[in-house]
Formats: sequence, structure tokens, C-alpha cells
Amino acid sequence: MSGYTTTRGGRAVPLKEAILRGLGPEGGLYVPVAIPMLPNTEVPPAPGMLTSPDGDGCDTLLRIAKWAAPALFPGVPRATVTRVVERSLTFPIPLVEVEAGRFVLELFHGPTHAFKDVGARFMAALMEEVDEGEPASRIVLVATSGDTGGAVADAFRGLAGTSVVVLFPVDGISARQRRQMTTLGENVHALAVRGTFDDCQRLVKEAFLSTTESVAHRLTSANSINVARLLPQILYYVYAAHVVPRPRFVVPSGNLGNLCAGLMAMRAGVQTTGFIAAANANRGFIDFLNGADFESRASVTTSSNAMDVGSPSNLERLLWLYGGDAHALRRDVTGVSVSDESATECIADVYRATGYILDPHSAVAYEAARRHDAPSNEALVILATAHPAKFPESVEDVIGRAIPVPPDLAALEHRAERMETIAPTLAALLVELEKAST
Ligand SMILES: *Cc1c(COP(=O)(O)O)cnc(C)c1O
Repeated sequence: MSGYTTTRGGRAVPLKEAILRGLGPEGGLYVPVAIPMLPNTEVPPAPGMLTSPDGDGCDTLLRIAKWAAPALFPGVPRATVTRVVERSLTFPIPLVEVEAGRFVLELFHGPTHAFKDVGARFMAALMEEVDEGEPASRIVLVATSGDTGGAVADAFRGLAGTSVVVLFPVDGISARQRRQMTTLGENVHALAVRGTFDDCQRLVKEAFLSTTESVAHRLTSANSINVARLLPQILYYVYAAHVVPRPRFVVPSGNLGNLCAGLMAMRAGVQTTGFIAAANANRGFIDFLNGADFESRASVTTSSNAMDVGSPSNLERLLWLYGGDAHALRRDVTGVSVSDESATECIADVYRATGYILDPHSAVAYEAARRHDAPSNEALVILATAHPAKFPESVEDVIGRAIPVPPDLAALEHRAERMETIAPTLAALLVELEKAST
């Protein structure tokens, strides 16, 4: 049985419907009817050496992704999935051993220099493939705590028949993150919301549930609740565990999409000793892992802003994955909350000791890894989710030098910005959606 049901037991639908709807009609999150399993064939061998940080890492990644991806999308022709992999994974994902046994998985070499490029590009390419021949007029609506907006806007920019509307908290993101959304023009509409990320996320949900509105039926969500963004993230776990055997993964966490993908990768057959969820001061999920009941909280602002989430949207999926059994979840995942002060200290220490520059999000994970008492034979794979040059405000003073800026990021400084500032209300959003759809 293939297809997608929801965490609330909604009827099974084909992939296309799960992608376009984003959220199930009863509010549940789409999940595969059957958890995908990795092929029981060997990964095809490399023509050359296995991996090097900047050498054939891209080859290895593509080889493994093409081997694994068709299993994640049953019902989609293999050739289509392969094409989507080739179109979306166009950048390397190096695995760098920063200290003995601590490997950093650099997920930030895509066009917007955050790991969200992986899911967003995959989703855009897949949507174009499954939509083929239907000149639809769609609105891709997305709330961002910092990086999603840029990645989604970049991935969907210029896509025929599609408008992109991005909501971000007016004071919650870095200047470079903002420019990645406000300077694209074309079909990309940037909305600065006078509120927090949680407000942005709530507005997106409300827009989807307001089925009486004329725009509602054309909305597609590209948030990490979208199953087409989530599933491709499994691929880099497969890749990392292929290069570093049986690691423990350390995941900087906000909305828990990345962690959810990791746990699905484990279900699919990836060999791992377990997971560490690393959060900043927004620690509701961490407290839950440590035994408390979960309660959503107002988010607090930290320097790892893309993780400032008080009410993680993928928690429902995580619990679904464990059949609601929190004890079983706690056996696979331990949780660590890292203060801004500790993350900053970690950036300074690691730079001093190794010359490696962490961004504030990756530093939360790295610090969690440092606190983990690993047996000598256990390697840690720390997911690095953003390029440090996206956050010069938080990093340069700490390491005492300027961070080399990738040319495409530097070029943003010179482009004109275009955005609207709106109140955190559905009424204000609907006005903008009407504008975007004309
Ligand atoms: C979005 C994001 C996160 C959090 O990922 P989730 O999948 O929401 O848990 C962590 N780091 C960076 C840089 C991000 O952009």
C-alpha cells in the first residue's frame, strides 16, 4: 500500500495531493502509509575514493541519494525521482572531522547557505514534476524563523504559475536572512509580520483552515510540515551513516523536521547508536525528552533564531512515529538545551582549538556533542545547518576576525529590498494573498 495518510488517520491520498495540501483536511500532518525502507541492495560502489571534504563528496552523495530516494517515494517513477535528485542536490555536503570522533555534516553549501535548501529544492523540483502539464496558479505560503523563507523563495523563484508568499518576524532574523527574501523580486512576496515566528506559523495555519476564502484552495505550504520537504532530508542521514559507520547524530532542533527525518532514516534502516536533540533556550521539547509533559510555550529570542520555536510543528509527527509512546521516543533521543552563552563559548573554543568556524545553530549542536559522554568507539555526526557568514553579528566578535563571505551572499548587499510590513492577523495576511494572486 503506498500513498500518504495523516497523523490523525486521514484517508490515504497520492503524493501530489499530500504535497499540494500540505496539511491534512482534519489538521493532521501527512505521513507515508508505510514507513519507507532502504533498498536491500548494496549502494553501488564508487568509481574512485569514498569521500573527501571538497573533492568527490558530491559524487558520493548523489550516488547514495539516487540509490535511496526511489524507496522514499513509492508510486513515483524511478526516473522522475532520479531527475529530482539531480536537479535539487546540486551542491556538496562535506563531512568534516573537526575533532577526533566529532564529524560535522556541512548541510549549508546550497544556494541560501542553510540546510533547508535540501528540502525546499527537492520539494520545488518534485512539485514541478508531479504538476506537469497543468498550468496551475498556486500560492506557496511559508512562515520562516529565518532560513526557510530564503530557501523556499530561491527554490520556487521563477516557477511558472506559482507565487511565493513568505512571512517572517519583523525583528527576528538577521539582515542577510532578510535580504535573501526581499531582494529576489519576480514571483516572491516578502511579508514582515509585527510579531514572533509563532505568530507567522499560526497565520499560515489559519489561512489554510479558512476554506471559505477565495485564495484558500490555491494555497500550498512549503513549511517543514510538508512531507515533500521532510522526506528528502532522510537522504543525508543515509549518506552520513554510509561514510561514518554507526554514528550518533546530533541535531540542532526547532520545528523538529530535521530530527523527524533522522528518526525516519533509522526506521528505514540507517544504522545509528541514537540521536541527541539540541535546542537553544526554547527547551520545551528537551524538557519533554527529560520526562516532563509537553507544553507549548511562547518562543524566546536567541542568536540561533531559526530554532526559536515554542511549539514545534513536527512534534505530532514524531509522536506518531512512536505510536504515541514517549518512553520509546526517549530511548532513541536524548535532549540537551544550550544557552546562548554556552553556544558562544563553544564557537570561541572550537575556533581556538581547530580553526573551524561554527554558526550559532550548529554551535548549539556542537556544544551538545561536547557534553555527551561518548564511548571511545562512537563517532558523533553533528549536523551543521547554516553557514557562519549568515550570522556575522553573532560570530565575528567571538572569533575576533571577519568570516569569508560566499560571493552570492555578499552580492545581496547591493540589491534593492521589497517587502510589506503587516499586523499579525489573518485579515492582514488575506489582503496580501489577494494581491499576490493577481
Ligand atoms: C530551520 C533550522 C533549524 C531547525 O530545524 P528544524 O527542522 O525546524 O528542527 C536549525 N538550524 C537552522 C540553521 C535552521 O535554519
